[in-house]
Amino acid sequence: MKTVTIIVPCFNEAEVLPEFYRETRAVTDAAQGYDFSFLFVDDGSRDATLSILRTLQAENKDAGYLSFSRNFGKEAAMYAGLSRAKGDYVIVMDADLQHPPALIPQMLEGIEEGYDCCAAYRVSRKGEARIRSLFSSAFYHLSNRLSDVKMKQGAVDFRIMSRRMVDAILQLSEVERFSKGIFAWVGYETKWIPYENVERTLGKTKWTFGGLLRYALAGITSFSVTPLRMITWTGFIISVLAFLYIVVTIVQTLIFGIDVPGYVTTLCAILFLGGLVELSVGILGEYLSHLYLEAKRRPIYLLKEEAAPAGDEDAAEDH
Ligand code: UDP
Ligand code: MG
Repeated sequence: MKTVTIIVPCFNEAEVLPEFYRETRAVTDAAQGYDFSFLFVDDGSRDATLSILRTLQAENKDAGYLSFSRNFGKEAAMYAGLSRAKGDYVIVMDADLQHPPALIPQMLEGIEEGYDCCAAYRVSRKGEARIRSLFSSAFYHLSNRLSDVKMKQGAVDFRIMSRRMVDAILQLSEVERFSKGIFAWVGYETKWIPYENVERTLGKTKWTFGGLLRYALAGITSFSVTPLRMITWTGFIISVLAFLYIVVTIVQTLIFGIDVPGYVTTLCAILFLGGLVELSVGILGEYLSHLYLEAKRRPIYLLKEEAAPAGDEDAAEDH
């Protein structure tokens, strides 16, 4: 029987966790021919999440958990889950029921067809702030233009992956992780399943607008060096234009004599170039900050507690 590990990153999800487990269990219990287990990752929650997970683990054979020493972010939680998951297939999904468990059987079908990955994407964004949808679509356009790694618009972190794809992802051991890019970067064929956006009914989103913007910027600079090249090209083009302007000015001066005005032109040029230089230094800084954080090789997460599903230990004793 094929084993499937479901990884669920949880940060302050006490309100929704019992409901999540009930609904998802209903789906996994109905799916024949697979042995499911849950691996919850408590990402330093400050509410009752951890105690709920302890109870779930104690009362059910298929639930295990990891708990971080503090909040390390969803990316770290997914990485921890992937590195601990033992299943032949691994599913990653959110705890807030925005990733409909009902899609799991379809995902399993996809992977049985021979795909290494079967992932969900949203065809609608109803219930989401308009400004957020606008920025998100701008991000995908920009990122796909700038980078060779093409990301699917509307893709969410709800997917099933084969063992070899999970192992490939684990080889990308960068500290600053951007999973949407990593999933695309490792390649392998993905089958896409559309679904309607589901609004969060319990608990609330952990994302702030600024946080999303920083995440998007990190995403672009993690997977593309095109912005660096753009600096080079901008500098080159400005130098050529400046040179032409010098020639024109010299010729004009020789023919018409010295022309005194030019205060506004000078000011505009200084301000424009000043802005451009600052922007370029900023872009360089972004890449430098990646180097800085990666060079330190700090661990991606730190555990304070963990418990495997009771069923796993039973299976181990059987051998
Ligand atoms: N999450 C996490 N660590 C964080 C933030 C979020 O593990 O620092 C989890 C959260 O518990 C949820 C998932 O990541 O299961 C998605 O978070 P959220 O629903 O806030 O994001 P959204 O659906 O609004 O994009
Ligand atoms: Mg959510």
